[in-house]
Amino acid sequence: MLRQIAKNLPPTYINLRTMSCSAGIPRDRLKGKVAIVTASTEGIGYAIAERLANEGASVLVSSRKEKNVTGAIDKLKKQGLIVEGVVCHVGKKEDRQLLFKTAVEKFGGLDILVSNAAVNPGVGPVLECDEATWDKIFDINVKSAYLLAQESLPHLRKRGGGSIVFVSSIAGLQPMPLLGAYSVSKTTLLGLIKAASIDLGPENIRVNCLAPGIVPTNFSSALTSDKTANEAILNTIPLRRFGKAEEMGATVAFLVSDDAGYITGETIVAAGGMPSRL
Ligand code: NAP
Repeated sequence: MLRQIAKNLPPTYINLRTMSCSAGIPRDRLKGKVAIVTASTEGIGYAIAERLANEGASVLVSSRKEKNVTGAIDKLKKQGLIVEGVVCHVGKKEDRQLLFKTAVEKFGGLDILVSNAAVNPGVGPVLECDEATWDKIFDINVKSAYLLAQESLPHLRKRGGGSIVFVSSIAGLQPMPLLGAYSVSKTTLLGLIKAASIDLGPENIRVNCLAPGIVPTNFSSALTSDKTANEAILNTIPLRRFGKAEEMGATVAFLVSDDAGYITGETIVAAGGMPSRL
């Protein structure tokens, strides 16, 4: 009976593995593609990995802690998704090398890089950030993202093109009070995609940014877990709610798919209408 119903539905909206009709997820949009998502064992990165895999991509999941990698992979494999995992601290060159080596060994190449890792070790006004904190923020949020993109290029070129997405932030467009240095690091990514997209366009490599608004995760818990702060923040969001990690996953899936084939050098803001001024 299910098979009969499925026959009459558009093929892209049917998961033949489970015979379930998905809630609008185009199951084959990324079929045959290989994706690396950094910092993808929790939060937004996990949701991106899950969504790309649900759309048919083979996804390499990674983060610093082995137990997190194993846990995430187990959950995704239980859904029947094609995923592998590797430990990768994006600030470590040998870990990044292992990331690309594993993608090639397990999946045969690379089409998509999603650079999602970021830190925010200190809060305060931008010009009061101490040097060690500034260095840490820029090392992970900017330099590692830059190096990952650079190191992905030989692999993308071998495939005749590809897609890179950096996860920036609404704070990169409209700095948040007390998130000064972090905000500037996220603004830097907006410049990086502009420059890289010009260089890489002729090679059919697209480079874009996602700028999420506030999404409840460990990373944003200081903003989202306090009830009073919560209400004040929600009043600044026209949609009057926080974002969902799944919504970030869906936006990245669009950006790396052929549906966004003519989009490069752009930032998609997914922030419930929060003001973005840059
Ligand atoms: P999260 O839920 O706290 O997830 C952090 C993930 O990153 C974990 O999987 C963690 O695993 C991994 N990780 C941390 N440091 C890493 C490193 N150096 N190398 C590799 N993996 C690392 O964070 P999130 O909120 O999803 O944030 C993801 C991205 O979205 C960040 O770029 C952040 O700036 C951006 N963003 C978030 C929000 C928000 O409201 N949540 C808003 C705007 C932008 P391990 O501990 O195992 O490494």
